[in-house]
Amino acid sequence: MDIPITDNHIHVDPYNGEGPLKIAQTFHRSGGKRMIIPNKPSWTFGEPFNFQKAMHLVLDYVKKINTESEVEAYAVVGLHPAELSRLLESGKNINTARDMVKKGLDYAQKLVLEGEAVAIGEIGRPHYEVSPEEWDLQNEIMIYTMKLARDAGCPVQLHTETSQEPQFKEFALMADKAGLKRYKLIKHFSGPYTDEIENHGLTPSLIATRDVVSKGIKKSNYFLMETDYLDDASRPGAVLGPKTVPRRTLEFIKKGLISEDDAYKIHSENIKKVYGIE
Ligand SMILES: [Zn+2]
Repeated sequence: MDIPITDNHIHVDPYNGEGPLKIAQTFHRSGGKRMIIPNKPSWTFGEPFNFQKAMHLVLDYVKKINTESEVEAYAVVGLHPAELSRLLESGKNINTARDMVKKGLDYAQKLVLEGEAVAIGEIGRPHYEVSPEEWDLQNEIMIYTMKLARDAGCPVQLHTETSQEPQFKEFALMADKAGLKRYKLIKHFSGPYTDEIENHGLTPSLIATRDVVSKGIKKSNYFLMETDYLDDASRPGAVLGPKTVPRRTLEFIKKGLISEDDAYKIHSENIKKVYGIE
């Protein structure tokens, strides 16, 4: 069976790491077929708050991978919640910061509508403590983005604090409020919350450790897999390496921990359901 092994959240970064082509080649040599790549925040290339450039960089990386390697790449564009934190830290008032972030997200939607990107993300709310005012604004922007995605018919990749059933429920209710189908909301960096009772109909993108994937597959085969690889030489080992999703998938099939049918469901059918990618 030909399984199009897909890393649902992997970064490439020629400024701080090895860049698109090297990572794609490493991924492919390990058995990977598709990379779904969210843009990195604006400060990683030294131009804080140049959101449009952050998005165009990832579009360029995706084009390079698609033309110069065997891997299929897809772009995800948006504003990491830390961008808003940094806007506020830089002295921008709440209204200016809100406008700048919303403008950036409108632009992300435009790129999806033009067929340049397959989802809006990673967006969400911080994994670190912030003021109540900022927290409210982050939540407001999450719902705003879900509405943009609803209108564009695309999914959203969510970056949030560590989440379990209560948070999944909260995000599901936000999706309902925005009119976005719950499965179009992808919880990036998810634990093994593959049972609908735990994830409330969201799509969990499991961090591809042995522990998380083996716990997840025992309950359901409705999930995606990711590394959240950063491609940042100054943060080695911060997350899983680019070979992990293909290696883990093939290892689990070989050991009988996952069936070929389940692997096909995860890497082909689930990806198709969420993104419409064949
Ligand atoms: Zn990420």
